[in-house]
Amino acid sequence: MSEPTIEGSCHCGAITIRIARAPTSVSECNCSLCRRIGGFWHYLTPAEVAVTGEAKGYVQGDCMLTNWHCPTCGCTTHWTAIDPDYDRMAVNMRMFAPEIWETLPRELVDGASF
Ligand SMILES: [Zn+2]
Repeated sequence: MSEPTIEGSCHCGAITIRIARAPTSVSECNCSLCRRIGGFWHYLTPAEVAVTGEAKGYVQGDCMLTNWHCPTCGCTTHWTAIDPDYDRMAVNMRMFAPEIWETLPRELVDGASF
């Protein structure tokens, strides 16, 4: 597996995220939380992601995910699964240089219907 070398960060720079592979599309979710965050998600395995800094977690109701944000600037940086066996997480590509993601296809995830 390649090293996580593509780097993004929250606005103030306290949280940095490095990913091992660039996305080929970004996902937009219409669930009650994601539609507020407005994130463009890129799904990876936890082994493909390196996060530094002290992000603050938020768990939505009965949701199985923790959404992480910077306590200083408020940017939502990524989410992780609460179940340690669930080998999937996502980073918010809006924390990365727009050149990496802005022209990619956007997939709609119908999280509101789950
Ligand atoms: Zn920040």
